[in-house]
Amino acid sequence: MCFSVIGNFSENSITEKGAILERSFSMQNSLLKNFTYFFIIIIFLIFFIPCFFFPVFINSNVISFLPSNSGYIWPIPGYTTITSYFGRRISPTAGASSFHKGIDIGAPENTNLIAITSGTITYTGFLGGGGYTITLSPDESTKITYCHVSPNFLVKTGDLVTQGQLIGLVGPMYVDNVPGNQYHDELGRPTNGAMTGTHLHLGVRIGDEYIDPLSFFETGFQSAF
Ligand SMILES: [Zn+2]
Repeated sequence: MCFSVIGNFSENSITEKGAILERSFSMQNSLLKNFTYFFIIIIFLIFFIPCFFFPVFINSNVISFLPSNSGYIWPIPGYTTITSYFGRRISPTAGASSFHKGIDIGAPENTNLIAITSGTITYTGFLGGGGYTITLSPDESTKITYCHVSPNFLVKTGDLVTQGQLIGLVGPMYVDNVPGNQYHDELGRPTNGAMTGTHLHLGVRIGDEYIDPLSFFETGFQSAF
């Protein structure tokens, strides 16, 4: 009897210990589960949230495809550094105007150029200081010029293009065998118009008046920062 009590007591004690162990194991288990969930949430916050916001701050493709108040979209996705603003300036190179009739956006050769609005291509060719140029006309009086582009035009005069359509590429710094090209660097090497580095010159002319192209994009710029 006594033995059996002790025996029972021992058995109970083992069962209780087992239950305690089991409870503590399941507590550890649920703690582990909670920790795992917590860890997954932290990883999500660390990686996904910045990935979501990163393009807004860094990748200007986001800016480029936001139509501004004017309805125009940025002509050169991924590049928003203005290397020369519209207006009076000190001429950067021989033959370049001291009143800058557009804006220069720095970008490497072969960067995509898109139609800022729908319209008709009214010129492709070499245009003096503008170098290889594409002109897009959304209406009779408005001329949008893309200068210093690649001679490998992706459109031709008379083409109807839609907003956002790829129409050309940023051109090279140097061009050879262009009849009548009087622009060159200090070593005499012929350049793609009056320029000191690869970029897009964007000009907007309405009637006889040149307008600051940035005035068409202000909203897009502001909304990105
Ligand atoms: Zn320019």
